[in-house]
Amino acid sequence: LTQPAHLPPNRPTPLLARLLCPPGPARDQLIVDGDDGVLALAGRYCVIYLILAPNRVAVVDCGSTADLPLIRRALARLGRHTNEVRFVLATHLHFDHVMGVDPLARSLNVPVALGTTALAHVRDGHPLRFPSGLTALRSLATWPMQGMPVFTADDWRKGLDFGFPWSHNRFAAPLQPLPRDGAPLPDFAGWTLLETPGHADDALCLHHRRTGWLITGDTLRNFLGGEWNPMVCDPVAYQRTRARLGTLHVRHVLPGHGPAFTPPNGLDALPQRPWWQP
Ligand SMILES: [Zn+2]
Repeated sequence: LTQPAHLPPNRPTPLLARLLCPPGPARDQLIVDGDDGVLALAGRYCVIYLILAPNRVAVVDCGSTADLPLIRRALARLGRHTNEVRFVLATHLHFDHVMGVDPLARSLNVPVALGTTALAHVRDGHPLRFPSGLTALRSLATWPMQGMPVFTADDWRKGLDFGFPWSHNRFAAPLQPLPRDGAPLPDFAGWTLLETPGHADDALCLHHRRTGWLITGDTLRNFLGGEWNPMVCDPVAYQRTRARLGTLHVRHVLPGHGPAFTPPNGLDALPQRPWWQP
């Protein structure tokens, strides 16, 4: 099964997202190719990915404490035991991807895996830049496209410590440093870790070369039918990231928002939307 198969949703698909988001809302989707697989789970504020390998699972992003039961149910549905999970990885430290990461890692008794830039921030206080001004305003239009999810009480109470410009991002779970750019993802043969700054200084993508799967966080997204993200904190770094990703073999983009998509003419040809569009 190399095309994403849609699964029954974990929760009702938000009506607004169905009406307003051109490619449709994020969906629970499973892709399997031989021993390798990825499960996309439509989380509260972002898509969560479970990287599936024999006897091991990695969780990528978890935006809300409300996502924890979805992930446990998904593991059970796949016939996977929770002790197969090796780590919870954050593609970047933005609240909608990270507010559930620490509680999830603690509940599974696994480390939080962070890239070099995120780790320098968490351990040494090295600042991270956020998209600002007009570029940040562009995100507003994407909120109704996701069904206008509001913060849960838990996210208000504990989530604000993670993923905002003012947050210290102090994880209580142990931290696992990820290797540098271009190295294999530990424990997951075939996956390569890519440092892809631009949307965020600490942005990571995960590429599976054989199958052409690319987990992108917010470096690419799918609110409008598959597009480069106009929200950037470093336009120059983002251009370099674009050029680099354009050279990869990519069959399925697994973005942090919206459903998976196949770039019809390669990543190079994906549109960069004008500023007034989200
Ligand atoms: Zn982001």
